[in-house]
Amino acid sequence: MKLVTFTHDSRTCAGALVDDGVVDFTATDASLPDSMLELLQGGDDLMQRARAAAASASGGIPLDDVTLEAPIPRPGKALAIGLNYRDHAAETNQELPKHPIVFAKVTTCITGPGKPIHVPRVSHYVDWEGELCFVIGKTARYVAKEQAFDYVAGYMIGNDVSVRDWQSHAATWTTGKGFDTHGPTGPWLVTRDEVDPGHLRVRTWVNDDLKQDSNTEQLIFDVPTLVEYLSTAFTLEPGDVVFTGTPSGVGVARNPREFLKHGDTVRIEIDGLGVLENPIIDEPQ
Ligand code: ZN
Repeated sequence: MKLVTFTHDSRTCAGALVDDGVVDFTATDASLPDSMLELLQGGDDLMQRARAAAASASGGIPLDDVTLEAPIPRPGKALAIGLNYRDHAAETNQELPKHPIVFAKVTTCITGPGKPIHVPRVSHYVDWEGELCFVIGKTARYVAKEQAFDYVAGYMIGNDVSVRDWQSHAATWTTGKGFDTHGPTGPWLVTRDEVDPGHLRVRTWVNDDLKQDSNTEQLIFDVPTLVEYLSTAFTLEPGDVVFTGTPSGVGVARNPREFLKHGDTVRIEIDGLGVLENPIIDEPQ
């Protein structure tokens, strides 16, 4: 099932993508919650009822008539993994990490498909990072990797937009990775039953130029390993988002270096997860 958060007639709610559009869950089953976060908090039970609602709906709202939002507009946590692809470690001449390099993307940076990414007033060093994201579906603490998939609700595309000069201001990357609009996700959350996260082609274009073309087979720490590692340190909650890292082909590693500018479009495609596309604009005054 492809889960969406969408706005229609000034109302933002959760639903599912079906053949001919978007099914509004609450319009089909009034007892279902209208936010994705509450839906995920309801666990497998509620997800089964959402699935039934999507199957029984007589038709969807045409996709052209809705605005898709970030599937989880304000997750409790948005974490990201640095240097998690073998090819990306090689292009930046760095040794493979012994442990996952975990950092936070502040949750206010999350934005949706089609929404603009700002070139901030203070920097022109804005870079793209196409990534597979997974979303937690069940409260997780000390989860062994063998059980990890039980705790994953599904997968979506993310762009870990990075302001490279601010990223290097300090040893932690919180500012450089957290500018407003720098966490696009979407276009939908695909439930785990439809995805094998270990074998997905990941591609990023800037305008018509293919910049990243890799596969999640290159991941150093795969999804189950990350669930185990993260849940050993702290509780993961439904709706928490993890950006799993970016493959080779980012702008800062190119010769000469390349950065995003006003008028560009970044387009990320991952097998089975759709396309996440965002325009780049100068931050409005
Ligand atoms: Zn990243």
